[in-house]
Amino acid sequence: MKIGVLALQGDFEAHRRRLEELGAEVVLVKKPEQLDEIDGLVIPGGESGTFLKLLGEADFEKLKQFVHVKPTFGTCAGAILLANEVENPKQSGLGALDIRIRRNAYGRQIDSSIREGRFIQPNQSDSPLEMVFIRAPKIERVGHGVEVIATEGNNNHPVAVRQGKVMATTFHPELSDDPRIHRSFLDLVRNGN
Ligand code: GLN
Repeated sequence: MKIGVLALQGDFEAHRRRLEELGAEVVLVKKPEQLDEIDGLVIPGGESGTFLKLLGEADFEKLKQFVHVKPTFGTCAGAILLANEVENPKQSGLGALDIRIRRNAYGRQIDSSIREGRFIQPNQSDSPLEMVFIRAPKIERVGHGVEVIATEGNNNHPVAVRQGKVMATTFHPELSDDPRIHRSFLDLVRNGN
């Protein structure tokens, strides 16, 4: 099983390490044709506007085709790229997740923080999960086909979602010791669920 990590910018190395620890073969994706050799893709955090600039139109289209067919996991800026509606400012998304997401939604004061949220897994009771937020976006709307897989705060705000073969977190699981989020992505690639 070959997993690509989009390596244009951002914290792709931490994802690579985590995926390798979990036994995956990892390819750092820097060229669009590398998408043809992988079974799943991680889009890391970084700056989503910069990703769009670096991708350019042709590579954006190629990536769009990929994320509509193959398992993909986006963290933070990656989650923003996967959404079909992006605010603050409005920008193009790959349209793989039916969510509205607002960039930099926590404001300056709590730019970055580590919080404990809840991980929701089928047939298991919810469990605590450490979440590292860095200039994080907020998911403001979740479409019908979208499953919430982790929440945070008193209002159970969605911070991790899944729709079909696509997963996203507004936090950075690659920066915590807990491997469960990456493991569930690898399960998704392996079994389709
Ligand atoms: N603030 C970034 C953006 O809007 C995301 C931050 C991150 O990926 N840690 O793209």
